[in-house]
Amino acid sequence: MTAPDAQDVVVVGGGIGGVACARALTEAGTPVRVLERAHRVGGRMSSKPLPADAGRVVDLGAAYFTVRDDEFAAVAESWRRRGFAVPWTDTLASREPDGSWSSKSGPERWCAPGGLRTLVDDLARDLRISYGHTVTSVGPGPTVDGRPARAVVLAMPDPQAARLLDPALRAAPVVADRAWQPVISVALGFGHRSWEHLSAAFVNGHPDVDLIADDGDRRGDLAPVLVAHSTAERARQHLDDPDGAVVPVVAAVTELLGLSDAPAWTHAHRWSFASPAEPHDGEFSLDDDLVGLCGDGWGSPKVETAWRSGTLLGRAIADRVAG
Ligand SMILES: Cc1cc2nc3c(=O)[nH]c(=O)nc-3n(C[C@H](O)[C@H](O)[C@H](O)COP(=O)(O)OP(=O)(O)OC[C@H]3O[C@@H](n4cnc5c(N)ncnc54)[C@H](O)[C@@H]3O)c2cc1C
Repeated sequence: MTAPDAQDVVVVGGGIGGVACARALTEAGTPVRVLERAHRVGGRMSSKPLPADAGRVVDLGAAYFTVRDDEFAAVAESWRRRGFAVPWTDTLASREPDGSWSSKSGPERWCAPGGLRTLVDDLARDLRISYGHTVTSVGPGPTVDGRPARAVVLAMPDPQAARLLDPALRAAPVVADRAWQPVISVALGFGHRSWEHLSAAFVNGHPDVDLIADDGDRRGDLAPVLVAHSTAERARQHLDDPDGAVVPVVAAVTELLGLSDAPAWTHAHRWSFASPAEPHDGEFSLDDDLVGLCGDGWGSPKVETAWRSGTLLGRAIADRVAG
């Protein structure tokens, strides 16, 4: 594990927000190091090999991403050109509480054949990143775990940032006591595809399931794998034991899609902080302590928001430390 230099801007968090921030700083010529507690970048754009020995990844966090911002569109186009991302569908199914189904058109949803994490891997290329590095405190100076830094960025959900910040810092009250909603994602692997064409379905008003996505359809290999996102209410009942959500979520998916087969395997992943109850005002925060905050809490909670928030914050810090 390599410690940051006192001249580095330190970005804590290697999700797409933190990685976009570090990329913007690097492009501006400002030295930066990312500290990530996991052994990979990606955060909530998580793609995990399932079953563990199968070699095929399943997207367990974000289901897809949308592209509205012109600059992010250029990034998405670069991913598309190089085969990292593909436009998937602009039409998803919607299931109403009365049991009726309809199609809902909306923005084009994009996916990644290799899993959404590969997009963050791509943005992170050539950046200086320390993995397996869990930061425990950010203090005045600013300091990170007691070591001085030129500026510090916290690129993560507010409750995670709140744990790190010294109460004397201006950023501390900004992230204190902010409610975020949990989700438990349940992947279901089958022997064959027994459902009609789905792409993904919003499930409205169901006690257990909010969304069902066809992982084989979005990834383009037609693997017989579904991923269901639980409701926040269902997730709250199983935060200490995410596997406990599998039975009710599988029962809901089976009933909603009229499946005749039981899954051959399942996997549950807990997201304690999947999305903010309320967004912050503005697109990021940067104060006179030189502590910045960014991520998908700064707007509509989406991949694109996190990218834009991190990018804008990186440019703002580069301007500040150069001035
Ligand atoms: C179930 C689910 C479904 C979603 N569906 C969609 C969707 O369909 N479309 C869409 O656009 N978005 C969706 N999202 C949201 C999308 O995933 C996020 O907006 C985006 O990934 C957030 O990126 P981020 O960088 O802000 O945060 P994160 O991805 O959460 O990154 C934070 C990083 O900080 C690291 N970290 C935390 N604490 C520490 C510490 N103390 N020290 C070091 N590192 C630390 C974490 O390990 C993590 O890597 C979904 C999210 C979830 C969970």
